[in-house]
Amino acid sequence: MTSDPQCSTILAPYAVTPDVCRGRIYAESAPRWRSEFQRDRDRVIHSAAFRRLEYKTQVFVNHEGDMFRTRLTHSLEVAQIARTIARALAVNEDLTEAIALAHDLGHTPFGHAGQAALNACMQEYDGFEHNFHSLRVVDLLEERYPEFPGLNLLFETREGILKHCSAQRARQIGELGRRFLDHLQPSLEAQIANVADEIAYNHHDIDDGLRAGLLEIGHLRELSLFQQTEIEVTARWPTLDSKRIRYTVIREMLNHFVSDLITTTRANIETLGISSVDAVRYQSEPLLGFSALVNREHLELKRLLRHQLYEHSQVIEMAERSKGIVKNLYSAYMDSPSSLPNMKVTLATKEPVRAQIVADYIAGMTDRFAIAEYTRIVNARILCTH
Ligand code: MG
Repeated sequence: MTSDPQCSTILAPYAVTPDVCRGRIYAESAPRWRSEFQRDRDRVIHSAAFRRLEYKTQVFVNHEGDMFRTRLTHSLEVAQIARTIARALAVNEDLTEAIALAHDLGHTPFGHAGQAALNACMQEYDGFEHNFHSLRVVDLLEERYPEFPGLNLLFETREGILKHCSAQRARQIGELGRRFLDHLQPSLEAQIANVADEIAYNHHDIDDGLRAGLLEIGHLRELSLFQQTEIEVTARWPTLDSKRIRYTVIREMLNHFVSDLITTTRANIETLGISSVDAVRYQSEPLLGFSALVNREHLELKRLLRHQLYEHSQVIEMAERSKGIVKNLYSAYMDSPSSLPNMKVTLATKEPVRAQIVADYIAGMTDRFAIAEYTRIVNARILCTH
């Protein structure tokens, strides 16, 4: 264990510390009151892309109800789960939090439907991938600082944001892409943010799915974990109303996954004698993981959510409408770039460049702004044809 004076905590030898941190693209003077990792977390929170997450779809489109998760509340839940795991494993909590808060910054409006539509529009170029776009947001698109483009985040934060990457893209981004070509693992902090994302959405989607009436308790009872937890909760609190039983079962399940993840990962670290960040990176598999039994439960839960919720006819119907909005916006801006806020783009701008500017603009939209823009464009077309 080493003491990190900047973080005032005791970190494990396999944690990312200032000593092993690979720094920023543009050199900066050290912050006075915060660690470099806290600085990254704060830059993410102050970004425009982070604020826009409030009005972006997680599963349910932003205007479907005020109680559903949005990308913002999802990101906060991911950060909260990730910090618990990071602290329990004595790794860098501030770095983990920065990655967790930034992990969805590149999401389009309308969730995965928006990304699929934009990816289809961009097929003749490099396609569109929200995870890669998150990196583009923090490296380039946020314009806030006088000395550099983007947020100039630490290598380790950017590494954590880029969860996956094609070999073609990995070759374009230098050192950051190397692990995808060499089949290395990211830091434990990045692994934690990634799994915390899955734990968060599995559980909040149960809650949101039940609230929306798309999931039924009967579906969830097909899962032995849900059934068993429900029996235990009702035996312990026999007079509890159904809503509080539901919340308690979901919370107990979440605890079950987080606890298993921590104890299994601790055992992995001990068995393999992991004592440095490099040792974490050079493993053939991620060190962070569930036990075999809990991994099965995790996969069963994901499968059930896919069949019963993500592929529900109402969700698919909304997704199709959303795809139509994104595709129409894309072709409207490509045909008429004068409606873009970037005044330098014209029809004479080379098509791949124009397509990237249009994709960046659409990806940055909130659900409601995309709908408003779509309505404006459709109305303008109706006026033109009269
Ligand atoms: Mg996420």
